[in-house]
Amino acid sequence: MLDKLNYRLFWNWDHSTNWCLNTVGRQNTGVSNLYTKRGPEFERDYKRMIEWAADHGVSSVGCVALLRDCHGGFESARRICGYAREKGVRVNLIAGLYSYGGLYYEGKSQLSLNNFLEKHPECMAKDMDGTPRFIQFRHPHGWMREPVACPSNPAVRNYVLDTLAYLFMALPELGGIQMETGDCTPVCMCEKCRERRALWKGGERRIPQLSLSDMAGIYPDAANTIWSISPDAWVVCEMYTHYTNNPVYQDAENPCVKAMCTLPDKCFLQWGDRHFPKKVWEDFQPVPEHLRRFRNIYRCHHSTQWAEGRHTLTVEKIRRQCEMAADAGIQGVSIFGECSAFHANTEFNYLAFQYFADHPHATLRAFAEEVMAPRLACTADVAERYIQLADLIYDRAKIPAASAEITKILAGITDYDAQRRWMYLGSFLNAYYWESIQKN
Ligand SMILES: [Zn+2]
Repeated sequence: MLDKLNYRLFWNWDHSTNWCLNTVGRQNTGVSNLYTKRGPEFERDYKRMIEWAADHGVSSVGCVALLRDCHGGFESARRICGYAREKGVRVNLIAGLYSYGGLYYEGKSQLSLNNFLEKHPECMAKDMDGTPRFIQFRHPHGWMREPVACPSNPAVRNYVLDTLAYLFMALPELGGIQMETGDCTPVCMCEKCRERRALWKGGERRIPQLSLSDMAGIYPDAANTIWSISPDAWVVCEMYTHYTNNPVYQDAENPCVKAMCTLPDKCFLQWGDRHFPKKVWEDFQPVPEHLRRFRNIYRCHHSTQWAEGRHTLTVEKIRRQCEMAADAGIQGVSIFGECSAFHANTEFNYLAFQYFADHPHATLRAFAEEVMAPRLACTADVAERYIQLADLIYDRAKIPAASAEITKILAGITDYDAQRRWMYLGSFLNAYYWESIQKN
């Protein structure tokens, strides 16, 4: 059991990160979307997030599509990563090695996997019928149609390792990488991949399609390639699912697990809650003995497009996430950081992330008393009432009465920031009420 969680990570897309308010082209959802703001907004959004991270104990800010031509490519990435380094925060590139566009998400770069596959169609993954595989995310949770590479093709392997080495040479300010192989992307069905998976006995899953053998087949060489250039880089291996719901991870003799265990202790293994979350939450297991020496991370999807919706208050879930991580021997936690702390619920989520990572066995009452009450200019009881009121999005008929209650609380408050937070809650709830009474 741990008494503090040392690694705190924010996970983000470029296109739906909105730390600057009132900008044109904001998106609140999506995977693999186009970037729709003006290019310079990308840097402004990320610098604000980094400032928050530096001030509130967030160690690393991740970004999917850090590198795109339309928001400045290497030059803006260099400025963002350098700004973060100055403030003691790392920027991690979140990237797919066989899918999601590779290291350079969109543009005229040799680091773009899509460009590589366009030139080398023989390197593409195969569908059941032998045709090249693409991934097409469903609207509104995605947009682009992206090619997928074959993990068994030696030319793909060389390309992945060469581009990783190049990236860390060309962008020494980069704090690290969260690498993936492809979770929603269908796995390659070519003969070589089928044979390799059968041999490695990776506990593959069909729905969603996850291949531990794809991951274990490249993560060790990819990590060692990165460290040969940048020894202090954080290398986060996305495991997609959770060891609690895949028995393969419990087996130290499994060939995939053995391959992962060739990595040094400094490697991060990131375990998610998204696939089969119920079992993970109800039956949380300690980290298997043979994986304990790694830096493990528990990543959750609170208050996002995939869970309760943006700007919802999820402080109790964040408390549980941190408590379960500490009890399981997991040293790190990760949540989304895409939304501005202007949204009072989001601000409290981020503050809960800091507070419960510092004190994973503290109570919600203690958080309300020590963190919320001073910011709401009220007692601990009234701060706890804020938490209850924010939950009325699930009981919308009670919102008009809650609105009146907030108005009464506001009458006794003179501090501007405390007023702003209560007014935010009122407006947030009323938007849900308004929607509940519309005819169409
Ligand atoms: Zn293949």
